[in-house]
Amino acid sequence: MNCPHCALTATKEQTKQTSLGYQTFRCLGCKRIFNERTGTPFNFLEYPTEIVLLVLLWRLRYALSLRDLAEMFLERGFEGCVARNKLIC
Ligand SMILES: [Zn+2]
Repeated sequence: MNCPHCALTATKEQTKQTSLGYQTFRCLGCKRIFNERTGTPFNFLEYPTEIVLLVLLWRLRYALSLRDLAEMFLERGFEGCVARNKLIC
């Protein structure tokens, strides 16, 4: 995996994972640690990328209300993904 900070290809996989379960890597050039979401718009979200994209897909494709999406994701164990008429994941 290329380093998102310096684009070096020499990286080493780390044993530690992020709280969401993403594998971490250390760049052998700049020594920074990163994961697959580092440097992307999804980096600081509290939910897995696939869940965020699924909410967006269902919202746009099936025109589901935010209340419907909240109920669907609550049943799947993602509490608080949709709240106060805003997507927060
Ligand atoms: Zn680097």
